[in-house]
Amino acid sequence: MRSTLHWTDTNRNITNKIYELNSGAKLVEAVNPGSIETYISFAFGGGYIHEHAMRLPIGTAHFLEHIMAGNPNKVFKNKKTLDDFKKGNLDKAKIWTNATTSWRLLEFYGYTHHTALKRLLKFLFAEIDYPLDRLEEFIEKERGIILSEYYGKDKKEKSTGIAYDKFFFGSTYGFVGEYVLGNEDSIKQISTADLTTYYNNVITADNLVISIQHPKPLTKAELKSIEEFTNKLAKGKLITFKAKKIPNKFKYYAFQKEDTNDIFFSVNRFEPTNPKVDYKESVLDFFYNRVISELTFKKLREEKNLIYAGGNNIGYPGIKLKNYYFNSSVRIENFKIFLDELYELFEHGIEDFLTSKESDSWFLSEQSTYIYRFNQNYDPDYAVNIGADLLFKQDPVFDFNNCVPIAKDLTKKDLLNYFKKISSIEPGFWFVSPLPKEDVENAFKESKLFKKYQK
Ligand SMILES: [Zn+2]
Repeated sequence: MRSTLHWTDTNRNITNKIYELNSGAKLVEAVNPGSIETYISFAFGGGYIHEHAMRLPIGTAHFLEHIMAGNPNKVFKNKKTLDDFKKGNLDKAKIWTNATTSWRLLEFYGYTHHTALKRLLKFLFAEIDYPLDRLEEFIEKERGIILSEYYGKDKKEKSTGIAYDKFFFGSTYGFVGEYVLGNEDSIKQISTADLTTYYNNVITADNLVISIQHPKPLTKAELKSIEEFTNKLAKGKLITFKAKKIPNKFKYYAFQKEDTNDIFFSVNRFEPTNPKVDYKESVLDFFYNRVISELTFKKLREEKNLIYAGGNNIGYPGIKLKNYYFNSSVRIENFKIFLDELYELFEHGIEDFLTSKESDSWFLSEQSTYIYRFNQNYDPDYAVNIGADLLFKQDPVFDFNNCVPIAKDLTKKDLLNYFKKISSIEPGFWFVSPLPKEDVENAFKESKLFKKYQK
């Protein structure tokens, strides 16, 4: 085992260390003295997106997750010993565990009071070193549970999330409009052979990042137990994920969802994420978000009363993409005027504001907000996010100290130029409303916003 990176995140007062284990697995240790909790995650580079390449039914990753998490295994031979182990009493803390499958990750995690770190590790070790000869025993039980999970969801044609992914990522990533857990046919089709194939390809040491957020540095014995556990796992290469560029072409789609009241609206501009940390860009992103939030609040809410809240964000949809994103909801009768006001704001309002004397003190105050931070809420996924960066070969180190001088030197002109750069990316517009698709799209087509991009 060797420690390869070490840094303190002054933004949160957390000290991070990255270890490379002899087995090929990686370990993120985040020492957070402000917390009394221990949060541990075992993340494998797998997930839904790799099933297709392995020629497995949709939902195999999620099915395996269900079997491994919470069913008897080599260590806890039956359900009672397994459940009893997690319980607390006057001398020991209770353990909470769960698991999740996303597009690109299969993750087993748990949290507890920091005094129970060893027990939590033992429990997660047992889940991951799964006895494949017991798959047969639990497959039908889990199939029943997963089918119930499936029927509890919106029909896939009615799922906003699925429609959104299909619209924006379908042509690039081949998302065909399915839930991660699969569909009725594929769930019924998954066999123990499929689950075994998936396990053997994905649950390997080289494909694993363990992330631990804990109030104290891990002891030598704790580190050793982790090293020894990962030695038991099969070798097997890291499943990498290739980022693709989403074509940023003007497009729009109005999704009909009858049980909504108003028109949800979002502007989306996708860019590939930088594989290396770019501190200047990170600082600019902060100010970009702030200026748009400030002006949408001031103009669209306080002056025109068109919206309750506008969400401006830079999102990371989990596939090495960055989305410069603005969303809001607006009453149907205000839709047209809202589009015109939004056009005004993005076309002139932001530039006018940033070039005015009036914005000087606002800008200065934002610089101050950036530099003099307040406490942030406890983030259970703090170490997990560093781990995900490691798994996908990004630079995991983000040193806030490097941002401060950049924020001090930043000018309104820099921000305006950045705003113009982002604005030059052709957007994708996404609407969700109770109205038929054509009604919303036709109203949109009459707006200045549409005419600006339609060539
Ligand atoms: Zn599930």
